[in-house]
Amino acid sequence: MSCRDELVRLLSNLLKIDTSNPPGNESNAAGFLKDWLSQRGVESEILEFEKGRGNLFSRIKGSGEGPSLLLLSHTDVVPADSARWRVPPFSGAVKDGYIWGRGALDMKSMVAVETMVFSEMVDKDLKGDLVLLATADEEKGGSGIVKMLEKAGEKIIANYVINEGGGEGILTKNGWLFDIQTAERGVFWYRVQTKGSPAHGSVPGLGVNAIDRMRPLLNRVSEFKGACEKVNPSWKYVESLLKMMGLVTEREDISNVEILLNKLAEVDKGLGESAKAMLQVTMTPTMIQGGVKENVVPYECKLTVDCRVPPGYSGERVKSMIMDLFHGLEYELEFIQESEPTVSPVDTPLYRVIENSLLKQVPGARLEPTTKTGGTDSRYFRRMGIPAYGFQPLMVEGNYYEWSRMVHGDNERISIENLLFCYRVLKQVVESFMLK
Ligand SMILES: [Zn+2]
Repeated sequence: MSCRDELVRLLSNLLKIDTSNPPGNESNAAGFLKDWLSQRGVESEILEFEKGRGNLFSRIKGSGEGPSLLLLSHTDVVPADSARWRVPPFSGAVKDGYIWGRGALDMKSMVAVETMVFSEMVDKDLKGDLVLLATADEEKGGSGIVKMLEKAGEKIIANYVINEGGGEGILTKNGWLFDIQTAERGVFWYRVQTKGSPAHGSVPGLGVNAIDRMRPLLNRVSEFKGACEKVNPSWKYVESLLKMMGLVTEREDISNVEILLNKLAEVDKGLGESAKAMLQVTMTPTMIQGGVKENVVPYECKLTVDCRVPPGYSGERVKSMIMDLFHGLEYELEFIQESEPTVSPVDTPLYRVIENSLLKQVPGARLEPTTKTGGTDSRYFRRMGIPAYGFQPLMVEGNYYEWSRMVHGDNERISIENLLFCYRVLKQVVESFMLK
């Protein structure tokens, strides 16, 4: 079988395994990968941290002359509403030059590519250890990676990590611009609660309405608008994007970032909104609960907010920002998640290898580091001081807005051309970095 056919079949079969999280059932995917590897003479292990929640991993020993590298991915996907899809989301359909299915982009295509590249290195002379790890539960809590590090850390730890979260190429008037994710925004999920006192709903004056008390808090969150800051990584990427798309000339004043990003959003909403989110603090009200019955004045109301911050914001700074936001109002505050931004250096040998490998495949392309607007498992490694890069090389087809909406959206698919492109670049990276 040709390499192309083998890769297409590997991905299509992976997409047929329903690993919607919850509940996940990632052991089915892990077992499939283990069999696939063993047919190629590669031993691997599965660690289940909970029944059905398997992580697959394997390690090829190097001579120790060079650094080790971990190829990281996750096998779980978010659920899919089949009624909204053109093909069943777990059919792994191959048609019109595309492979369709939930996870085609996020991120079973990368699972397939990493597994394939890994299997091809098994009989090679490597300078350092090469590690493969496909985790469970990335889409809901990340307990897969946490348990792996806790229970089998020594088996998977490496000097560098390549993961999802970047690598998208945008075709501009002036050539291809690719990103590599070297940082993630901090995640601060919090809940504010207002209290009132119950009374009969027919005589509201006898009670205190907690929903009414929540209104000014909700208004302040909704009206919150973080300033776009020229923070790196990201600003250089955004600046390159604006210039390469011809939205600013070399001499133009770029002091007002917001105006420029609005201009970008007019051309492509996906690019504009993502660029804004990379550079600013965002606060999104995501859940609200209040009241117990139709005829009872509500005595409690809770509002949950998804707050994300660019690099440079500590937990302390976020807390005082929230205090300022609700100044003068009565409420109780509770944090559900506190995860500060993480950043990897760009002046590393692996970064240079990634850049050179990309340029070999796409001559004249430009690569810039960015901050991921959401979160990935890379943050756990960055916190340990291990450089982790989000680099899943793909050439964005058409409008970025439409493209990015496939991730966690409807009709997720990857072209065979893009799957092969991802494979060629990553194989080049691994060979250049690891081979003697
Ligand atoms: Zn993902």
